[in-house]
Amino acid sequence: MNSANCHVAIVGTGPAGFYTAEALADNPAVRIDMIDRLPTPYGLIRGGVAPDHQSIKAVARRYEKTALRKNVRFLGNLTVGCDVGIEELLALYDAVVLATGAPEDRPLGIPGADLPGVVGSAAFVGWYNSHPDFADLDIDLDTASVAVIGNGNVALDVARILAKTPDEMAQSDIAPYAVERIARAPIRDIHIFGRRGPLQAHFTPKELGEMGELERAVPLVDPQQLPDEEEEATLEPARRKIISILRDFSRNRPDDKPLHVHFRFFAQPVEIMGSERVCCMRLEHTRLEGERAVGTGRFFEVPCGLVIPCIGYRTSPIPGVPYDERAGRFVNEEGLIGERLYCVGWARRGPTGTIGTNRPDGAAIAARICEEVTPSGREGGAGLDRLIAARGLEVVRFSDWQRIDAAECAAATPPHPRLKFAHITDMLEAAREKRLAD
Ligand code: NAP
Repeated sequence: MNSANCHVAIVGTGPAGFYTAEALADNPAVRIDMIDRLPTPYGLIRGGVAPDHQSIKAVARRYEKTALRKNVRFLGNLTVGCDVGIEELLALYDAVVLATGAPEDRPLGIPGADLPGVVGSAAFVGWYNSHPDFADLDIDLDTASVAVIGNGNVALDVARILAKTPDEMAQSDIAPYAVERIARAPIRDIHIFGRRGPLQAHFTPKELGEMGELERAVPLVDPQQLPDEEEEATLEPARRKIISILRDFSRNRPDDKPLHVHFRFFAQPVEIMGSERVCCMRLEHTRLEGERAVGTGRFFEVPCGLVIPCIGYRTSPIPGVPYDERAGRFVNEEGLIGERLYCVGWARRGPTGTIGTNRPDGAAIAARICEEVTPSGREGGAGLDRLIAARGLEVVRFSDWQRIDAAECAAATPPHPRLKFAHITDMLEAAREKRLAD
């Protein structure tokens, strides 16, 4: 890269976007605009990480430091592909990085999957996290039995939030309407279904262990579904830990607590039944062929009034950007989509890994940009500002977000750390009111 300013637009301000910005910002010749369709930054940290995992959310303080650097700007409430086109960004900036994550549910693709009462994890997690896209969902929790599909950490998050009492959520920033609905719900059984076995589950030990520490819920496992102790001894440590936790759960007694969380392995959903809404799910017992689950031809049914598939996510397409329908992400080679157009994080590699996985990913894309992009007198942010003004768009700057943030923290009843605005209009109003008062 030569010494002229290099203008980079990063679309999406979750972990992948911030780690990319952090790595780029060390070069004072780089000017970075971070764009988000919401008025709030931090993506999955705010809208995806479980509200009772505040220590994970603390990483936002690190992102804030990046946002406050002289060569970084935040522009929220601006949707790329709608308010501004990707071609327009490429004309204004020397490089454009898509860090838009994977906010859509992968389709379950079985009969009945679109019945009322089937709510994908993106929607369910967004709902309890006050995400403006999902806050107004009318999720009916008036059921004794819930089916959670998938053996990843999102399935654990969903089951745990449904199982916790209001007291257990007191230090969280969960949406108050969600606490209230969950507290009133007559749920007695939460079934977590894995199509493969405990050796293939994607749970991590810490998250799985939390299921054993709940006030009113007891996790239950059929010991017949666990590997024998001889095989357990040969497993690598993290996997051994998972099995050992599940073995502890298998010794629990159902009458210990009123709410039962059943881990049920080797069970593939084949149909969701109901007329007006879900009443039952039909599953097939599976066995493994190599690492693959295959049906055994033996079926069973589980009554349930709510089904929450937690089976992974897809990136949202953006007009003009090549998209791989099957993989559910942008077509790219090691993060390069096309000339000066890059992607990073879940938009690049799909929805895997922890928040920290995005750090090396962001650093690699930043290094690639510095190596491959030659600044050529493009306008960068000044041009975008002109376009925003000409279109009469209301963009939220980082100082506006800081006002929204302060208003949310001030509105919380301790020990809740914040009371989130769930609607964009309220966020904008808070920013405007405070702007006038300052
Ligand atoms: P995940 O870890 O990929 O788990 C998805 C699960 O869905 C797998 O068990 C998968 O089974 C199953 N599945 C996929 N398609 C299915 C189908 N058609 N029918 C039945 N089951 C199906 O995804 P995730 O739970 O959404 O998590 C995404 C990422 O975020 C992960 O890397 C996760 O660790 C991370 N995360 C971390 C935390 C945390 O650290 N606290 C919290 C939440 C999420 P197969 O294995 O058989 O494909």
